Amino acid sequence: MSETPPATAPSGATTLPLVFEEPRGRKKPPRHLADLDPAGRKALLEEHGLPGFRAKQLSTHYFARLVDDPEQMTDLPAAQRADLVQALLPELMTPLRTLEADKGTTRKTLWKLFDGALVESVLMRYPDRATMCVSSQAGCGMACPFCATGQGGLQRNMSTAEIVEQVVAGARALARGEVPGGPGRVSNVVFMGMGEPLANYKAVIGTIRRLTDPSPDGLGMSARGITVSTVGLVPRIYQLADEGIPVTLALSLHAPDDELRNELVPINTRFSVAETVEAAWNYARTTKRRVSIEYAMMRGINDQGHRADLLGDVLRSYGDWGWVHVNLIPLNPTPGSKWTASDPADEREFVRRLEAKGIPTTVRDTRGREIDGACGQLAATED
Ligand code: SF4
Repeated sequence: MSETPPATAPSGATTLPLVFEEPRGRKKPPRHLADLDPAGRKALLEEHGLPGFRAKQLSTHYFARLVDDPEQMTDLPAAQRADLVQALLPELMTPLRTLEADKGTTRKTLWKLFDGALVESVLMRYPDRATMCVSSQAGCGMACPFCATGQGGLQRNMSTAEIVEQVVAGARALARGEVPGGPGRVSNVVFMGMGEPLANYKAVIGTIRRLTDPSPDGLGMSARGITVSTVGLVPRIYQLADEGIPVTLALSLHAPDDELRNELVPINTRFSVAETVEAAWNYARTTKRRVSIEYAMMRGINDQGHRADLLGDVLRSYGDWGWVHVNLIPLNPTPGSKWTASDPADEREFVRRLEAKGIPTTVRDTRGREIDGACGQLAATED
């Protein structure tokens, strides 16, 4: 990427209260070592009257050895083991169901959290990588009309440890050889499950820190393997750019004009396409990471040639220094629904027009389609 002129956040933008406030008095998820940094873990053990130095051993079991059975933690004194595990490794969630597709290399798990809230995560194994798609909220408050998750509204934010646990569960399944392809590890994490990650900003940043902290304090992943998606909480995009962690930003744009985007992505009535794309461009400029523009192709709604041209023009207006690429997402074919998949010929034409404007464009792999694990399909029901 070449240098570009600096951008500034819109005045007052970072003071907007875009974080979901938990109602007072609501019971919080159990505290877990993944919620805390190493000093916090030590302090929590000491609060329980337990030796703080054991925190490192517990972290090693959790992040490095991926052990979940206390019986295997034989380096902990037998008399204290149960107390130590209860203090730092309480049970956070129970798997209710795992569905498999793609010969077992795509696995969607439905989790029940401590308060009965349901969330889902999806593990996708490819020949060269394994990606965990995680939820960051139970439900979602962004109300995008084409999205299954959005229809149920927001239940609550997830804690850092609840988000981390989804990744660790995937890491365990891979390490134990439960996924076809032999033992492996999680190389990528995408925040594209249930919820708007930037509306649960603090827990998501905490999660990124735990994922990237060197083992055994964290999972020791590369920030470059992590993608945070957003529908465009503009002040939070500026804030994320300043965190100094080079994760990839995926902006779910879905429309290049305010009129249509106001309908498809209601937060657009608060932050316009121009403000949102400028924040994404600033993210690329600050982090030197190419931004991904996510665009779910909806037949007859946002897939017209003139919209491809407009999208190309909007993105090109910030320069052609390689700051962006477009990822087209084929929606699930839902016959009779207003929100259904584009005609393949329209999809090809859309790609052609974007490429003609010099915008690198890919069509997303539709892994997980058979098990409702693609974007906007995680509705988390027990049925
Ligand atoms: S598309 Fe994303 S932001 Fe919109 S309602 Fe669904 S989960 Fe929420």
